[in-house]
Amino acid sequence: MITVMKRLLVLSTACSLLTLTSGARAASGIPAFYGDPPDERHPWAVHDPNRPQPQVVTPGSFSSQEQPGKPPSDAITLFDGTDLSKWESAKAGGGPAKWVTRDGMLEVAPSTGDIRTREEFGDCQLHVEWAEAVGVTGSSQGRGNSGIFLMGLVEIQVLDSYHNITYADGHAASVYGVNPPMANALRPPGQFQVYDIIFRRPVYRGGQVLDPGYVTVFVNGVVAQDHTPLEGSTGHMKRTHPMAFPEKGPLKLQDHGNPVRFRNIWYRPLPPNAIEGGTDGPLTAEAAMAKRKQIAAEIRQDASQLKNPSDPVPEMLRLLESLEYEKEPATLVQVEQMAGKYVADLKALPADKLESKKDEARHVNGAFQYVVKFQVMPADWEPKSALAKIVKDQRWDKK
Ligand code: MG
Repeated sequence: MITVMKRLLVLSTACSLLTLTSGARAASGIPAFYGDPPDERHPWAVHDPNRPQPQVVTPGSFSSQEQPGKPPSDAITLFDGTDLSKWESAKAGGGPAKWVTRDGMLEVAPSTGDIRTREEFGDCQLHVEWAEAVGVTGSSQGRGNSGIFLMGLVEIQVLDSYHNITYADGHAASVYGVNPPMANALRPPGQFQVYDIIFRRPVYRGGQVLDPGYVTVFVNGVVAQDHTPLEGSTGHMKRTHPMAFPEKGPLKLQDHGNPVRFRNIWYRPLPPNAIEGGTDGPLTAEAAMAKRKQIAAEIRQDASQLKNPSDPVPEMLRLLESLEYEKEPATLVQVEQMAGKYVADLKALPADKLESKKDEARHVNGAFQYVVKFQVMPADWEPKSALAKIVKDQRWDKK
């Protein structure tokens, strides 16, 4: 539970940094009071100007047979062709990884054992390239066998499946022993194969499965696993069963006695999914409300920066916006007062001064209409009716 809370804290901090403040929002031109408001499953409005901007990533480049591509800017490289510093033996107690690096490749040294990353991680996008030695030897599972174990637990099979018959759930890009690849898109031995994997580990709480965990695998750009649910850790001959995973684990590569080569191994950690505090995707009512409260608090905080007695409208509108997310009682009272005063001040203006308020009043009128339409404020909300009357009387509603 503590780890979950930590994750939520990290996430909320990250979101706070990314959420648009009034100034940035004004510059972005994204309007408030626009799309449908937050609801019991969605903490964000449609086209919500407060929603964090996506992280900017500079894409890498694709590999050719001769040249590995460049990873995206935020990727964590596990093997770049130079050394094994990020790897160790997967034997109990670790120790140096004994595989061979040469010509920019990492090659299985048969009988030295599996290797694993020193670093541990969970949900990720993983990129791995591998190639079989030229010159076919062996058959079925004995031909160019290795494996990529996600979190050290789930094997995405590496095998020379090019013109090689074996059991379907043991082909290259199978979730070994569980699910065959949807297609065999392998290149001949000697050529590099490209795996792009999206992995979400299972999430359990109190012994109950909240998310079974999934893996998606592309082989040379062809989908082989399509959001395949996980069924525990990989075994041989034995049927495995769903189970809880730790938060993170090492990436493990298998020594199956064949000199398979690897290159260009990197991953990108994925943000938490909805069930673990992420705010994109289907949320529980409880999680959506918790996030709405957080967003409302951030907007109120932002509103406090806008306090200006000679121009109270920006603060009033920002506070009004916060009520879409949470009808915090004190804010409700404050907005009632500010809105009532705004309309009263407008009414008190002499006709020659009133005209200069046209654009602002139309803007505020739009916001008042919005909050009543979506029941943030009651249908008979007095400031809305009073302001609408002024706008109508002044014929400001006409183009
Ligand atoms: Mg294997």
